[in-house]
Amino acid sequence: MTGSRAETATAHTLSLRVDEWSGHLPGQHVDVRLTAPDGYQAVRSYSLAAPADDCVIEITVQRLPGGEVSAFLTDIAMIGDELEVRGPLGNWFVWDQDDPSPVLLVAGGSGVVPLMSMIRARDEADIQTPFHLIHSVRTPQDRIYGDELTRLAAQAGGPSVTWLYTRTAPPTETRPPGRLRQNDLDDGSSRTSGATPTCFICGPTGFVEEAANHLLAAGHHADRIRTERFGGR
Ligand SMILES: Cc1cc2nc3c(=O)[nH]c(=O)nc-3n(C[C@H](O)[C@H](O)[C@H](O)COP(=O)(O)OP(=O)(O)OC[C@H]3O[C@@H](n4cnc5c(N)ncnc54)[C@H](O)[C@@H]3O)c2cc1C
Repeated sequence: MTGSRAETATAHTLSLRVDEWSGHLPGQHVDVRLTAPDGYQAVRSYSLAAPADDCVIEITVQRLPGGEVSAFLTDIAMIGDELEVRGPLGNWFVWDQDDPSPVLLVAGGSGVVPLMSMIRARDEADIQTPFHLIHSVRTPQDRIYGDELTRLAAQAGGPSVTWLYTRTAPPTETRPPGRLRQNDLDDGSSRTSGATPTCFICGPTGFVEEAANHLLAAGHHADRIRTERFGGR
C-alpha cells in the first residue's frame, strides 16, 4: 500500500502498487485478501476507482459499521503494508470507450467507485460521449469525489452530475430528502435524450434492484442496463 486519503469521514482511497499490473477496464474490480497472524483469511471485492498509473491502482473503501474488511482497510491498514490483490476481474460491468452511446450512471453510496473510474477514463481520453451521473448519498458530507465531480461537471463537455440526498439535503436543494424515486430517474433519462443510453447501476443490492426497476418503468430496455451489486441491503 503506497497511499491512503480520506474521501469522506467514512470512505478512504487506497493506492496499491501491484508489480507487473497489465492495466484494466473502467468498471472492473479486484479481490483483496487479508491474512491474520493466526492464518484466518478474508476476501472482499473492491472496484478499481481510476485508470492505473503505471503499476499503481486505486480502490475506495467505505467503512461499514461492524464491517470486517472495510474497517481494517480504512482504519488500520498503513502505508507499506502488503495486501494480496487478484484481478482485474469482471468483463460485463465495463464502459467501452469506443461506444458512442450516451451513458447514464446511477450510484448508491460507494457504488460511485466503478462509475468514477468510467468518468475518469472518459476525461483522461478526452472523449465527449454524454455522461450523466445520479449519485444517491445520505448527506452532502457523504459525496465521495464531490470536489472532483463538481470540477469536472463545470468543464465544457464534462459529465453532468446530480446528487440525491436521502437524509439531509443542502439548503439550496428543492428535492425533499428521501430514497430514490421514479421521477429522479425520469429526469436523469431526459438528460441523455437523443439516443438510447447505456445504463450502469451500482450500489447496495436493494438500491440496485430499485433503480433497475425504475429505469425499466421509464422505458429503458433490460439489455441496456448493467448492474453491479455490492451486497448488503
Ligand atoms: C464487485 C464488487 C465490487 C465492490 N466494490 C466496492 C468498492 O469499490 N468499495 C466498497 O466500499 N465496497 C465495495 N464492495 C463491497 C465490499 O466487497 C464488501 O462487501 C464491503 O466492504 C463490506 O465488507 P466488510 O468485510 O467490511 O463487511 P462484512 O463483515 O462482510 O459485513 C458487515 C455487514 O455489512 C453488510 N454489508 C456488506 N456489504 C455491504 C454493502 N456494500 N453495503 C451495505 N451493507 C453491506 C453485511 O450484510 C453485514 O451485515 C464491492 C462488492 C462487490 C461484489
